[in-house]
Amino acid sequence: MKSLFTTSVYHNKISFDLKDLAQEINLIQKSDHTGKEWSAQNYKNGYTSYGSLDQLHKLSSTFALLEKKINTHVNRYLKQLDYEVTTKSDLKMITCWVNVMPSLAQHTTHIHPQSVISGTFYVAFPTGASAIKFEDPRLGFFMNSPAVKSDAKLENQRFVSLPAKSGDLVLFESWLRHEVPTNQSKTPRISISFNYGWS
Ligand code: FE
Repeated sequence: MKSLFTTSVYHNKISFDLKDLAQEINLIQKSDHTGKEWSAQNYKNGYTSYGSLDQLHKLSSTFALLEKKINTHVNRYLKQLDYEVTTKSDLKMITCWVNVMPSLAQHTTHIHPQSVISGTFYVAFPTGASAIKFEDPRLGFFMNSPAVKSDAKLENQRFVSLPAKSGDLVLFESWLRHEVPTNQSKTPRISISFNYGWS
């Protein structure tokens, strides 16, 4: 048996001062009035700087340091995918923003257009926090296929949730559809999201 046309998702850890990062995110949230208004319209129950401050790697030395660390992982992922591009000359972090999801916040199914590699770094992933959930990109082709068994092998499942820990990094190709189901954690789930695109 051979696995063809696989969809690879990268999951690893980054060592970083998470407390420092959480404090900085808290300050960003407090001062970002435009972002709070944007979130009230587009990100119910939560806060995201996606609509206001999406270049945090260019505004903050902490985020710039994080970008440097993420670059190493993006290059590993690109190599694994057999792409002949790197962050040294071809791809750059083009957007970077923060997300704070208290209890009941959610992010419905979406892709990240005009990007190549996307990902999330988890600053706080408390007990009960929602895992990112990926959808099989071939879903529209299955037509009359039977449903897979509930205990199907991971590579045969149609939807895969990826539980994470604080300090974890997840990378995926930007076309891969995903969502964050309704968060159930008592304390907020805090993450930093970003896109890499052609430089
Ligand atoms: Fe996303």
